[in-house]
Amino acid sequence: MSVLEVKDLTAGYGPVRVLHDVTFSIDTGTVAAVLGANGAGKTTLLRALSGMLPGTKGTVTFDGRKLVGMRTERIARLGLSHVPEGRGTFPDLTVEENLAVGALLSPAGRPSRADLDRMYELFPPLARREHAQAGLLSGGEQQMLALARALLGRPKLLLLDEPSMGLAPLVVRQIFEVLRTVVADEGLTCLLVEQNAQLALGMADYAYVLTVGEITAEGPAAELADDQAIRNSYLAL
Ligand code: ATP
Repeated sequence: MSVLEVKDLTAGYGPVRVLHDVTFSIDTGTVAAVLGANGAGKTTLLRALSGMLPGTKGTVTFDGRKLVGMRTERIARLGLSHVPEGRGTFPDLTVEENLAVGALLSPAGRPSRADLDRMYELFPPLARREHAQAGLLSGGEQQMLALARALLGRPKLLLLDEPSMGLAPLVVRQIFEVLRTVVADEGLTCLLVEQNAQLALGMADYAYVLTVGEITAEGPAAELADDQAIRNSYLAL
């Protein structure tokens, strides 16, 4: 079953169309990756899905609901959580306070002790920095915080924009390990946008290639990783 079905999605910024008739779907409990060069429209795709771009056309069906034209906050409440490039944590708030913001959309409106403990177990560096201001965290810790905050809202679909951006390989491995755990343990569905194609294909079940706003290739991640043209263009092998 698909949690997300996107049909003929066209979106951009004012008169500038960036995405052209993008059609794809994501099965529940799987990880889909979108690969593409700089400027291909990956970030724009995530923004369009989470309702940030006025003028978006086409059909986006999420968990049986039509999203195009719906406000971002309502889309988030339906269980679609977007972790933007650059993480979007609140630098002046502490780790704990940032996490509380993540649970605002949950039924209780605040994180339970058990949920917080689960996040600190998944991301031990956050437990050590619980009372530190988010702005003082390392890049890796900020990415962990952004992920933990999103997970506390118990999303049905997590949109991740370049989670590896600017991070050391060891930290990237730690973060992807945690993602794998959450996907396996909790059946989370993920749409992962990455310039690091090797990383994305290692994590994803299925992948799409976006080229100048159009999907030009798709397939099971393992097959794309073996495809010579994909290897030449995106894996630099
Ligand atoms: P990157 O990996 O560099 O972030 P991307 O695949 O995510 O690339 P987008 O950020 O979606 O690409 O950008 C796609 C196109 O939209 C680019 O040509 C970019 O210049 C343009 N664009 C992005 N943001 C805006 C904006 N706010 N206003 C106008 N054009 C924009």
